[in-house]
Amino acid sequence: MDKDKLRYAILSPDDYKKINDQLANLDALDVIRWAYGQWDEDLVYACSFGAEAMVLIDLIYRVKPKASLLFIDTELHFAETYELIDEVKVRYPELNIEMIKPAQNREKQVKAEDEKLWEVKPDLCCKERKLAPLEKSLQQYSAWFSGLRREQSATRQHIQFVNADKRFGKVKVCPLIHWTWDEVWMYINLHNLPYNKLHDRRYPSIGCAPCTAPVAEDGDSRAGRWAGRSKTECGLHQ
Ligand code: SF4
Repeated sequence: MDKDKLRYAILSPDDYKKINDQLANLDALDVIRWAYGQWDEDLVYACSFGAEAMVLIDLIYRVKPKASLLFIDTELHFAETYELIDEVKVRYPELNIEMIKPAQNREKQVKAEDEKLWEVKPDLCCKERKLAPLEKSLQQYSAWFSGLRREQSATRQHIQFVNADKRFGKVKVCPLIHWTWDEVWMYINLHNLPYNKLHDRRYPSIGCAPCTAPVAEDGDSRAGRWAGRSKTECGLHQ
């Protein structure tokens, strides 16, 4: 495919279909190689530092050690998440990890809005502390990696390797779509990768501390996110 065409605004639904047909039999590592072949420096990984992220970071590092990563630092993450990021920096020293922050720091937001915005207006909180900073940072890229897997939820069952990211007007590449939760953990254990210690305390999916709770033994992996509220996604993936 023409390289100048590989931008969200120019690719048609037919183009996405052709690309995904072409990639259909590749594994995650090959999809990562393919993606860097198309976008190189124009490609970034918006990393959550969840279990899938540990696998994706390890695979990306094999292909491009100086890869760019973005972490949306809402300033409301668990201490364990920040500890993990420090471990990742030691294990993968060449990675370029950028901590992106909201326009307003937490204290200013508290003054301007309700004291616990995540309780009273969680959509607004996600918009200000996650979506707006990511949108701003993604402006300099054409494409981004995400660790989404089809198995995660009903809404994620139709994700392809290469997707139109309508929210941000970019191309979203998801190399792990076929991976199961067990395979993610087999890889982490096989390669002795660092991971968030909260996973050992029944937190399969980890976001901001005020909006993440542990789940029951056999509970849905995302049941702990915004538990007890109708909200299930932060709006990053549409
Ligand atoms: S996950 Fe919760 S605390 Fe984090 S940005 Fe969204 S509403 Fe705010």
